[in-house]
Amino acid sequence: MPRATRSSPPNDGVIVTRFAPSPTGPLHLGHAYSALTIQALAGDAGRVLLRLEDTDSTRSRQEFAAQILDDLSWLGFHWQGEVRTQSDHQAAYNAALKDLARRGLIYPCSCTRADISRAGAKLGLQGLVYPGTCRHRPMSEAQDGDALRLNVARALEHAGALPAFTETGPLHAGTHQPDPDTLIDRIGDPVLRRRSTGDIAYDLACPHDDAAQGVTHVIRGADLWDSTPLHVLIQTVMGWPVPIYHHHALVTDETGRRLAKIDRSKALARYRDEGVSHAELIAMLPPLPITPLAP
Ligand code: GLU
Repeated sequence: MPRATRSSPPNDGVIVTRFAPSPTGPLHLGHAYSALTIQALAGDAGRVLLRLEDTDSTRSRQEFAAQILDDLSWLGFHWQGEVRTQSDHQAAYNAALKDLARRGLIYPCSCTRADISRAGAKLGLQGLVYPGTCRHRPMSEAQDGDALRLNVARALEHAGALPAFTETGPLHAGTHQPDPDTLIDRIGDPVLRRRSTGDIAYDLACPHDDAAQGVTHVIRGADLWDSTPLHVLIQTVMGWPVPIYHHHALVTDETGRRLAKIDRSKALARYRDEGVSHAELIAMLPPLPITPLAP
């Protein structure tokens, strides 16, 4: 039986949101725009949290994490409370995996990328859709170094009807009902624990932490829009609240000619070193929201 899912987290009338960069490189203008958009949409009354999504052990670096904190202070991004660092919470993610395993919702997978493309996988919304080669394998056969994948079809059965989620971002504003066929055919069984490294995947750590931190509003870039129905599925199966979502436009050429002349992949710290002022940097970004979200 699925656990009861609340349609939205308790928020006592206060927005709780977060900026969740991965310390796999320095922050760029796109990150600056995201952080400041989050702060603007939270408004003075909102609670803004900072989370370092450092689950990718091969790419995350302590020095990037330190640089991110410096850059955010320079940007004028203020967070409340302690920074949450995902690598400190491995036990909690393992407990979630154990719970999914007990209910038969994950399976071990030893397929390499080459195996997956050789099996004729089709291109979906997030790259190749896993063709299900290892889906029959029970968890009792899991080997060290196997990936663990969510069995999406079984999770959907387990979840029953998925709740609709609210999106307040400009590109997809409205109420959205996650579509089971899209989840099965165009997303496929996502990795929740990675092959070889055993790293926890974003698609588990992110919804886990949003629930653990009492996040009421997930504000992030439009590149993560396609992950949202999967996160709603995981939230429903785990009994975690489904937050309100807001996907903001990305800082790309298409969003404004003003950005055409600048190097979007340049680290924020380089602008700072070159003497660019805070105001000049803000002027390079698309306009920030002026009205905070309603709690
Ligand atoms: N860590 C993700 C990134 O840097 C953001 C995840 C999120 O906001 O949900 O792209």
